[in-house]
Amino acid sequence: MFLEPSVKKGWIEVICGSMFSGKTEELIRRLRRATIANQQVKIFKAAIDTRYDTTNIVSHDAKTIPSIPVQKAADILAYVDDAEVIGIDEAQFFDEQLPMICETLAVRGVRVIIAGLDMDFLGKPFGAMPHLLAIAEYITKLHAICVQCGQLATHSYRKVLNTDKVVLGAKEAYEPRCRICYHEGENIHHQHNEMLIADMSND
Ligand SMILES: [Zn+2]
Repeated sequence: MFLEPSVKKGWIEVICGSMFSGKTEELIRRLRRATIANQQVKIFKAAIDTRYDTTNIVSHDAKTIPSIPVQKAADILAYVDDAEVIGIDEAQFFDEQLPMICETLAVRGVRVIIAGLDMDFLGKPFGAMPHLLAIAEYITKLHAICVQCGQLATHSYRKVLNTDKVVLGAKEAYEPRCRICYHEGENIHHQHNEMLIADMSND
């Protein structure tokens, strides 16, 4: 379990992992602890993430915490005021300015806690997350359970064939898988695509 350092200086924490690994729950847990300690807390999310609710961060188990939706990372600075702790959820959806914004806040003495997907459904580093992982003082990588075999899941497997980078509606479209089961699924998708192409050329 993550224990907060006792120094009173700014730093960056990243909570990463696959879908269904409990990233938002862990972010909320840390923010609640800070709130109980009477620290000024502000929470941001990208305006793109509109599933469930537009003004609350909602984790999959429906624990909520009020948040501010912003169009771009630079907008965060306009809302920070005297916040001592900043939470950022679904950080992979933000633009490439986010690491610089987090750096600026941490240098000012703000504790910045970021939660986000480290990999997209293709298994590739997602958005600004690799940059954020590089500059963070503290990293927590969470795991889900692979629905196929029960091992630790690191990958977000997209069950539907759709190549758009962002498909919202988590439960129907994705499932957590370990590396092996993820690649088995990808091979089946690949074979399915080849069959579709073969069918079309037979017409
Ligand atoms: Zn597996």
